[in-house]
Amino acid sequence: MTSNSRYAVGVDLGGTFIKAGVVDAQGRITPSSRISVDTGCEKGMQWIVASIADAAERAVEASGLAWDDVSGVGLGSPGVFDFDNGILIFAPNLICLNGQPLARLVKKELAYDTSVYLENDANCAGLGEQWAGIGRGAKNLVLFTLGTGIGGGVVLDGKLWHGSRGVGAELGHQVLFADGVKCGCGNRGCLEAYASATATVRRFHEAVKTGKPSALADKARAGAKVTSKMIHEAAVRGDVLSRDILEETGRFLGIAVVNMLNIVDPEIVCFSGGMTGAGDMLLNAIKDEAAKRACGPGLKGVSIVFGTLGNDAGLIGAAGCVFSKSGISA
Ligand SMILES: [Zn+2]
Repeated sequence: MTSNSRYAVGVDLGGTFIKAGVVDAQGRITPSSRISVDTGCEKGMQWIVASIADAAERAVEASGLAWDDVSGVGLGSPGVFDFDNGILIFAPNLICLNGQPLARLVKKELAYDTSVYLENDANCAGLGEQWAGIGRGAKNLVLFTLGTGIGGGVVLDGKLWHGSRGVGAELGHQVLFADGVKCGCGNRGCLEAYASATATVRRFHEAVKTGKPSALADKARAGAKVTSKMIHEAAVRGDVLSRDILEETGRFLGIAVVNMLNIVDPEIVCFSGGMTGAGDMLLNAIKDEAAKRACGPGLKGVSIVFGTLGNDAGLIGAAGCVFSKSGISA
């Protein structure tokens, strides 16, 4: 990544929080600059745009730097984008922003005249890990974000890959089962419908319904909310069903890893997001399945890892977009 400027603002726009921070050219967040505000989706587009600009401005102020030291604002957002026309086409959790030229709106709202780059949040996480995290120095990296859904980011030859229509790297919607369960995207059998945190919990409930014993079964039958974290904790305590379900999630992800090896041939396949809290139990299941299925040179020269930037990957990668001039610019 080359740039004369020493800092960029990264903003991570989520359905619940907007997080911002000032990031240096090595991908480090200036600690004093961290800002988090409520997204306030229900308050509408103008509110969110103003909150994004406000968070960016407060981050710069809190960092003790001047805007002259900052070469732009990178904004990571969920959704699908029209990169040619600078439009956020669709983000299910930010309905009021759909169809809007978000980068342009934020640029207009900022009190300072600076460039704004808009990029998909999973792409940001991929760029963040490749630039400043576990993939530092790697040319080719594939990243899966594991949360309520499964997102993806692909870095090829050191650059984020968008595809020809800007809708590439939707790794969660690769199909594992031709006649599988319905996915939120409208297709059937997608990875996301089997291996996201939401899908892992669903598979757990399905297994309990068939009568399989589990320490969490009574809670599940009583209608209590079961989370993927609870399944992991139960697995650690020796609950066999919880362990089986989690390892099955790992197997599905291992298949997806091999699909990516066969298509992209990356040096690093990285996972980030809440479900990486399941640690080695999940990672080993992913690796075992990938090792069984990888053809040609197998897993030689490939690292299958969890990211090291945690929840900061998206924010750091958003700032990275400013340095690499990636994303929709306004
Ligand atoms: Zn899908």
